Amino acid sequence: MNYSFEPIGVIHSPYREKFGIPRQPSLVSAARVRLELLPPYDHPDCVRGLAEFSHVWISFVFHQTMDRGWQPLVRPPRLGGNAKVGVFASRSTHRPNPMGLSLVELISVSVDNGVALELAGADLLDGTPVLDIKPYIPFVESRPDASGGFVDGPPPLLRVEWSEAARRHLAEADAPAGFALLVEQVLAQDPRPAYQDDPERIYGVSLYCYNVRFGIAGGVARVLEILPAA
Ligand code: SAM
Repeated sequence: MNYSFEPIGVIHSPYREKFGIPRQPSLVSAARVRLELLPPYDHPDCVRGLAEFSHVWISFVFHQTMDRGWQPLVRPPRLGGNAKVGVFASRSTHRPNPMGLSLVELISVSVDNGVALELAGADLLDGTPVLDIKPYIPFVESRPDASGGFVDGPPPLLRVEWSEAARRHLAEADAPAGFALLVEQVLAQDPRPAYQDDPERIYGVSLYCYNVRFGIAGGVARVLEILPAA
């Protein structure tokens, strides 16, 4: 039996490519995204009462990687990229049904011009199709006694420094509010692929319409340049 779903909304996110997106929600609280509801779901009735909740579950499609299929075993970055676990013991994007689930903070609900939710801390790519929104219910879903398996806590953070050039570019750029904090929180997560450690290498991450170029050496991420995205 097959089931088909259609998106109820679309994500507008500062993350313009996969590289640099945190591996789970809430790790980068400075990431603000807008979830725009699509017709016929963009009616104020569909979100009546939602603004009373502080957090929501977003079900979505891993639309950018869904054509790459799936494997029964995956290598989670948290295990260093070598050890394998079953796909259903992981949060891999490559799944039989390429659906994601993220718990995010609900900042506001707007019904003035269509319906849109302002969300914080999302791990979602720009253009992500959203299948469903559900309110988070703390007394049922918060389980401080739960075991986190091989993911036993937040990842260690890198220190982030800015070069003179990057500071100058930042001052000259017409970047959105909170951009510097977003850059710092994203780089502190260490976006490099597991077991890649080349202190000479220069990386670029796309945030809004900027290409943030940086290097990582000795536990420090250094912002080198903030350039307009190509
Ligand atoms: N919190 C969700 C979950 O557990 O289902 C997603 C976890 S998944 C490991 C997070 C990664 O998904 C991000 O780092 C990003 O690389 C990727 N991602 C986010 N949105 C995506 C999209 N629309 N298509 C493909 N990959 C996406």
